[in-house]
Amino acid sequence: MKREIGIVGAGVGGLHLALYLQKHGVDATIITDREPHEYRHSRLLNTVAHHHVTIAREDYLGIDHWSKPELFYAYHDHYFNFPQPLHFRGDFTKPSRAVDYRIYLPVLMEEFMKRGGRIEYRRVDEVDIPVLAARFELLVVSTGKGGFGQIFPYRPELTPFSQPQRRLCVGLYNGVRQTNPMSVTLSVSPGHGEMIVIPTVTFDGIATALLMENVPGGDLEELATLDYAQDRKHFLRTLLAKLERHHPTTFDRIDPAQFDLAQEQDLLQGGVVPTVRNTTAEFADGKCAIALGDVHSVVDPMMGQGANMASYAAFVLGEEIVKGDALDVRFCEKVDLRRQDRVLAASRWTNMMLAPPSPALGMLLGTMGQNKLLADEFTENFNYPEVQWDRISTPQRIQAWIDRTSAPHEQRIAAA
Ligand SMILES: Cc1cc2nc3c(=O)[nH]c(=O)nc-3n(C[C@H](O)[C@H](O)[C@H](O)COP(=O)(O)OP(=O)(O)OC[C@H]3O[C@@H](n4cnc5c(N)ncnc54)[C@H](O)[C@@H]3O)c2cc1C
Repeated sequence: MKREIGIVGAGVGGLHLALYLQKHGVDATIITDREPHEYRHSRLLNTVAHHHVTIAREDYLGIDHWSKPELFYAYHDHYFNFPQPLHFRGDFTKPSRAVDYRIYLPVLMEEFMKRGGRIEYRRVDEVDIPVLAARFELLVVSTGKGGFGQIFPYRPELTPFSQPQRRLCVGLYNGVRQTNPMSVTLSVSPGHGEMIVIPTVTFDGIATALLMENVPGGDLEELATLDYAQDRKHFLRTLLAKLERHHPTTFDRIDPAQFDLAQEQDLLQGGVVPTVRNTTAEFADGKCAIALGDVHSVVDPMMGQGANMASYAAFVLGEEIVKGDALDVRFCEKVDLRRQDRVLAASRWTNMMLAPPSPALGMLLGTMGQNKLLADEFTENFNYPEVQWDRISTPQRIQAWIDRTSAPHEQRIAAA
């Protein structure tokens, strides 16, 4: 029997899976609510950076359309706005890149169709899921952070918060000077929030994403509700004043005369409740629906993990579908066991960074200021959140990591 997979949702998770299956000769039908042409004028969706492990998957799928070296960034610059500022750099082994998803997703949808893939356009509701599951050998649900809560209930033991931990104000701006080579800045204003500054490929070339993660009750919180459309000048004036006070190294890169949203719809305000869900629903006929991407685990965007996880999990699922005998409940369990270490580590690590730093984490951050090897490994682990979690999940592990990377070079070689 020819294998046929249904995929609800054409985000990065659904599309990477669909393209993977297509490459391996497995029939996949995408059912989604948005056509490619609807993305061009939509509000900013997110500000996603892909790390090199995800870019390698894009290469494998033949969809790496943004391969010019000048579109990549090479390192993370960290700035902590303490009375005695802390400033250090961590390098990746291979560069990362951010492409506006309003460009990225429709290009992948078109590519899938060009290669013979089918996309049906309609909104799917929770009641439709069992019907769709009956139609396919396996139904994959990758509809993003809404989650279909009746079918995939959240897991309280892995979902510590019931409210967003940051109030987001995210925009794509012109008028911010890029570093040379390009880099991402992680800027922290203790007690008030973090800001991730990302060079991003968008409609008119490269603009700068300011992903402002504002602590509820802090001085930056009002940015999450400040109305750009109602009073653009007031919005920009307020934002610049806050940047000068809380994120001064980024403020220094701004030309106030040029500083503005790249387009008026390039602003996103709100918050995310980090949530981990059960991933499998089995129906009376033994058919299953399996969750992928944000339906499985939504993380706060601070550490840039959600889309990279969705892509990783799509490949794990794709590999198992290609070699699986029966796509039943046991199949779903095995998929979960294979992907959970990395997916859950991304969630745990991000949740840890949302809380006030423990003494051990504070020591780690302070040590990175003097230990470039440690800062480089911390940065490279954005590709491998399970390794990051191995390093930082307990004070003992943090101490062991500091000790190893602080040892003289010869001792490190001998230990390796
Ligand atoms: C501000 C911000 C910055 C971020 N930065 C990063 C980053 O740097 N790195 C990173 O890895 N992640 C980042 N993320 C997270 C990332 O955006 C998500 O984790 C990722 O896009 C999830 O992909 P997905 O395929 O699971 O879902 P989505 O991308 O949300 O796709 C869902 C798909 O389902 C469709 N759909 C939804 N509901 C229905 C329905 N009822 N019926 C039919 N179709 C439906 C949608 O149209 C869409 O096609 C960021 C998120 C935000 C908000």
